[in-house]
Amino acid sequence: MSFHKLELNKALLRVVKRAGYSEPTAIQKRAIPQILRGCDLIGCAQTGSGKTAAFALPIVQMLDPVAGRRPIRALVLAPTRELAAQIDEEFGKFSRGSSLRRVAIFGGVGQQPQVDALQRGVDIVVATPGRLQDLMNQGFVRLDQVEFFVLDEADRMLDMGFINDVKRIIERLPEARQTMLFSATMPQAVQDLSKRILKKPVKVAANPQATTVDTIAQSIYFVESGDKRALLKHILRDPASERVLVFTRTKHRANNLAKQLNRARIPAEAIHGNKSQSARTRALAQFKSGRTAVLVATDIAARGLDIDSVTHVINFDLPNIPESYVHRIGRTARAGAAGIAYSFCDVSERKYLRDIEALIRERIAVVSEHPYMSAVAAPPEPVPAKKPARESHRRRARHFRGRRQTRSA
Ligand code: AMP
Repeated sequence: MSFHKLELNKALLRVVKRAGYSEPTAIQKRAIPQILRGCDLIGCAQTGSGKTAAFALPIVQMLDPVAGRRPIRALVLAPTRELAAQIDEEFGKFSRGSSLRRVAIFGGVGQQPQVDALQRGVDIVVATPGRLQDLMNQGFVRLDQVEFFVLDEADRMLDMGFINDVKRIIERLPEARQTMLFSATMPQAVQDLSKRILKKPVKVAANPQATTVDTIAQSIYFVESGDKRALLKHILRDPASERVLVFTRTKHRANNLAKQLNRARIPAEAIHGNKSQSARTRALAQFKSGRTAVLVATDIAARGLDIDSVTHVINFDLPNIPESYVHRIGRTARAGAAGIAYSFCDVSERKYLRDIEALIRERIAVVSEHPYMSAVAAPPEPVPAKKPARESHRRRARHFRGRRQTRSA
């Protein structure tokens, strides 16, 4: 199916072509016609599924540029600064050539440029809830003309304690508006919220809830916690580990690990919520450009971030919230590419592994031969390994995948 069938206008078809998109992704096929028809929408889509374009393209099409004073007519809320910046960039890409104006509003940077943009007038605002609230309280933001409201990564908004901010923001929106809610997972709290803020929503799901992307080859390394670092270095020394995102449980562990890797001459940077926004932006830019091969992150980077060609996601620590696993590994295999996800699991993390496997409804293959095998690793029972889709990734993976087996316990 081509984009032509989606009733996008000529300017947007050109934009889509320039972006190199040959056909719409599943969520785009299902969501774009409904949004253009004016429906409220709940989108349940996996990370990397192309959901930003699924809402940004129709919004850009429906926002006729207006002359004179510009009220905010489209508001997108996102949970993290990086994601807000990224969505804003996507809007920029799709609205190039039109006179639509936009601003991204998030904390950690000076507010003045954001205030200046608001005062000049913008059509589209992409914001994190905290800073937006702040600017609303100072009288710089009026939302009474908003026609399109998007709540992206709604489940994460709730997890991050944004729910009250989000509710206060929604109170300031006009009743007559089109609302779109996107969430990779649909916990009860999100379903409850959606009942309150959406009117007769159409539900579109690109994939079953909380399943992992098929093109990601996932495996588990059972390892003692004290050997995790050595195992990581062993993996990173492989030339196939070109762009690796490593997740740790805490900010402190992310910092320490990045330092230790640098000491071992493996260029790495850390990204987490205690870093200044400029340090976060720099670390991300270095990683995106390939200057640092390894980015060590907390879950702040697990959501939404779109970094091309991440070859590996490595869970140095398993997340205690199973949904985070889905989001973390979704940083690789973006938009149909293949990817590799390794998870280190020490004895104390076995329960997290069980929860993750229950959520994704599959058992993750175990690497049964590696130099740092945990003495308490479970005995093997062979199963066919899930192969990465692309040959190049398959070759990469082979080097250190070892024999894959499942646990019997
Ligand atoms: P998202 O899920 O919105 O973060 O998108 C993930 C990545 O997919 C981004 O790099 C998009 O530019 C890309 N993308 C979005 N739509 C398409 C498409 N139809 N074809 C190819 N890539 C796409």
